[in-house]
Amino acid sequence: MNYDVLHLEALPITPHEPLPNGDERRFQPMAITLISGENDAVLVDPPTTSGQAAAVAEWIAAGGKNLTHIAITHGHGDHWFTADLLARRFGATVVATAETIAHMRQQAGIREFLWDVTFPGQIPAAPVTAVTVPDNKFLLEGYEISLVPVGASDAEDSSVVHVPELGLVVAGDVLYNGAHMYIGDAAVDGVQRWRDAIAVVAALHPRHVVASHGDRDLDHDADRIIAGSLAYLDYAESVLAGKPSAHELFDALLKRFPDLRYGTTLAWVGARTIAAVRDGQDRPTAALLAWTTA
Ligand SMILES: [Zn+2]
Repeated sequence: MNYDVLHLEALPITPHEPLPNGDERRFQPMAITLISGENDAVLVDPPTTSGQAAAVAEWIAAGGKNLTHIAITHGHGDHWFTADLLARRFGATVVATAETIAHMRQQAGIREFLWDVTFPGQIPAAPVTAVTVPDNKFLLEGYEISLVPVGASDAEDSSVVHVPELGLVVAGDVLYNGAHMYIGDAAVDGVQRWRDAIAVVAALHPRHVVASHGDRDLDHDADRIIAGSLAYLDYAESVLAGKPSAHELFDALLKRFPDLRYGTTLAWVGARTIAAVRDGQDRPTAALLAWTTA
């Protein structure tokens, strides 16, 4: 048994106006995980766009394994919009926790107002076809794979994929590996629930972690990734205590973490959302406007 990761570049998104620091507006890069046995394989968190799915399909086909399952860690559309497309191509079953499936339906309901604005014309038809599995567990050639519910991370009702045989956790967005973290959704009201989710992952004692968003040049060392993600949340919380403006929070995050090459768009969108919520806007509207307007 082993795992491989395919890195997909951070795509430019709409609107095209640059960020306050001059960065081009791009989404996060994606790390796509394939867990393989001798003959069968399981994909975790298929990507967002049809173009990305074509690259993933080619990669799976080149590996020559029979794709049995596609596991989804959480409801954010960037982690599953191509699940049905890839499931039909390979005859695989899409699986997730019941809570994640509910969140996927919510994201499907807002895709035309959010995701299709961000990635115009690039996202395929995306029916929610995911099903639950008993006790959130299934087998790959006899080895157990678990969907472990962890609560809120950058999305409500997140889970991680645990592969005990490999000492591996595929963490979705519960952990980030060298990219700015998205504090503009479930973390708007505070990061403690996200810390609690990370504690659930740490209690699994993984050796390797694949975070969906990160720097492809970094390794998968679990302890480093957990410590780095906690440090980011701690710092964000300390800045937020001073009730910063969107610009002040954005500038503080960039200054404190100069080595993070990715995710500055997410830092800006998150900072705008937090400031708007503090000014009395509801979270969904604030996030929608932060994503879809310059
Ligand atoms: Zn997410």
